Amino acid sequence: MYDVAKLYSAFEEYFGQPPTRIARAPGRVNLIGEHTDYNDGFVLPMALDRATYVAARPRPDRVVRVFSTKFREEDQFDLDQVVRDERRQWVNYIRGVVKGLQARDLPLQGADLMIDSDLPSGSGLSSSAALEVAVGYTFQLLNNINLLGEELALVAQGAEHTFVGVKCGIMDQLVAALGEAGHALLIDCRDLSYRPIPIPAQACVVVCDSGVRHRLAGSEYNQRRAGCEEAVRLLRPALGKIQALRDVRSTDLAMYGNLLPPDLLRLARHVVSENERTLTAADALAAGDLTKMGQLMVASHISLRDDYRVSIAELDTLVELALAAPGCFGSRMTGGGFGGSTVSLVAADAVDAFVTAMIDGYAIRTGRKLQPLICTAGSGVSCVYAHEE
Ligand code: ADP
Ligand code: MG
Repeated sequence: MYDVAKLYSAFEEYFGQPPTRIARAPGRVNLIGEHTDYNDGFVLPMALDRATYVAARPRPDRVVRVFSTKFREEDQFDLDQVVRDERRQWVNYIRGVVKGLQARDLPLQGADLMIDSDLPSGSGLSSSAALEVAVGYTFQLLNNINLLGEELALVAQGAEHTFVGVKCGIMDQLVAALGEAGHALLIDCRDLSYRPIPIPAQACVVVCDSGVRHRLAGSEYNQRRAGCEEAVRLLRPALGKIQALRDVRSTDLAMYGNLLPPDLLRLARHVVSENERTLTAADALAAGDLTKMGQLMVASHISLRDDYRVSIAELDTLVELALAAPGCFGSRMTGGGFGGSTVSLVAADAVDAFVTAMIDGYAIRTGRKLQPLICTAGSGVSCVYAHEE
C-alpha cells in the first residue's frame, strides 16, 4: 500500500507548506492485443494498483516548481514560457502536459508539485503515461478544469509525442485515465471507444521483467509498422476499401495471402489473428473463463514469437517457466518486444508458489535475478487527498 501521508509530509518539508491536492494515475499492463494498436485494432490492458502520485499546492504567481523524488531533483519553469529541456528528459513529461493544456486554451496558475511513484519505471509498465496523466489531472484539480478522460489522455499522449519525442499510441494514457478497479479495458484503437471487462477475483496478474532491453527495439518497431502498411497496400486490390489490417479477417488472408511476400504474410497473420484473439479474450474474461483466457495469451505469445518475431530468448524462457509453474492459466510477452516483461494470469491462491518458482527457474536458466510483481486491476486517475477549504 502506498503511503500518501508520507508524501504529504515530504511535500510540506520541502516546500514549507502542505499540499492542497494529491492525485495519482496508475501504470498498466497489456493482457493481450500486442502490435495491434497502430493497425487500428484492439487492445486489452489493465490499470495497475501501482501508480505515480503528484502532491500539489497552487502558487500566486506564474511559476511551476516540480520536485521528483525519483531523480531527487527540482525543475522550475514559467507558465508563459514553457519549452522543452534538452538536458533532462523527465521534466519534459510535465512541461509537455502543461503546454498541451495551455494549447487547449485552459488558463493555468502556478503550482508547487512533488512527484513520487511506487511504479517501476522503464519496465514497460508505462510509468511515463502515469506521470503525464497524473500531472494533467493535478492541474485540472488546481485550476477547476473539467476534461473528459479521453481528452486528458490525448493531452498526455501529445506531450509524449511533442515534448518527449516518443510516438506512442493512445493505449497507455487512455487506461491510466479511464481504467476501472477490478477490470481490464477493451479498447478499440480506431475510434478510442472502450468497454470495461471484469477480471475474476480468483485471478491475479504477475509481471516479470526479463531485465533485458535491446537498443534495436525502436528500429525493429518502425520496420514492423511499415511492413503492416505495405501489407494493407498489397491486399487492397483484392479486398477493396481496407484502411488497416484491422479490416482484414483470417478468412481473407487464407484466400488472398498469396498476394503478400512471406515476411509480410507473417506480419499480417499475427495482427489479424491477434485482433481476433483479443476480442475472444475479452468475452472469455467477461464470462470468467480463465482457462480460455490463458490459452489465448499463450497463442498470442507464439504468434509474436514465430510470426511477428519480436520475442527474445529470455522472454520465451519466462513464458516457458510460467506455464510449468503452479496456478498459471497463461503467459505471454507484453509490450513491443526485444526485451521488457511477460504477463502471466495466475490463480490467486497459488500466486506465492508461482512467484517462487519463477525466481528460482529464471536464476537457474539465465543467472538473472527476477523480481516478479503481483498486480491487481487498479482504478484510473483519481484524487486521493483534497484539503477542505
Ligand atoms: P515506461 O513508460 O515503460 O516506464 P518510459 O521510458 O516510457 O518507460 O518512461 C520512463 C521515463 O518517464 C523515465 O525515464 C522518466 O524520464 C519519466 N518518469 C517516470 N516516472 C517518473 C517519476 N516518478 N519522476 C520523474 N520522471 C519519471
Ligand atoms: Mg512509456
